[in-house]
Amino acid sequence: MTGILLTHHHTDHIGLVNRIVSTHTIPVYAHPNAILILKRDTEYIKMRVEFFRKLYQEMGCGEIGEKQVADLHNPIILSEDNKIHCGIQQITNNQLFGFDILEIPGHAPDQVALYNKECKWLFTGNLLIGNIPSNAFIEPDFDGIRTKSIVQQKQSLEKCLSLNVDLVFSGHGMIIENPIDL
Ligand SMILES: [Zn+2]
Repeated sequence: MTGILLTHHHTDHIGLVNRIVSTHTIPVYAHPNAILILKRDTEYIKMRVEFFRKLYQEMGCGEIGEKQVADLHNPIILSEDNKIHCGIQQITNNQLFGFDILEIPGHAPDQVALYNKECKWLFTGNLLIGNIPSNAFIEPDFDGIRTKSIVQQKQSLEKCLSLNVDLVFSGHGMIIENPIDL
């Protein structure tokens, strides 16, 4: 089976999808929580901008915070180029391409990992990166409430630690050969 599974919605992980599907008929899959942002849904984007505007104000970020919010309105960020144009199939069960699909939120609310029990290979998106610490991002949920992304990140790391993994294929850098130690 051939298809593209987006491990999470960040632009550095989805950049080529529009180009690939413009020349190949290939299904694209993502976690249900990724759909509104991948489609740059106007109401959802508005909610996110408002969430960050309030957050930066509460945290006393001043002018820098205001500039960040202005950047969220930036036409480059909101451009059609950054929106996924094709249909996106939502991952509705925990199996795809012969891999177990694991929800691993924290770095992004829609992040998933693919695990192959036979090879003991795990594709983790950005949950684990070899040469730099992986990070949890501040994000609102669909009601505009801040998610506990650091707690989620820790739980996701524990979930993967409990698996019998030999190799981790990260979203960045080299293959991780000592995932348990890391
Ligand atoms: Zn990311």
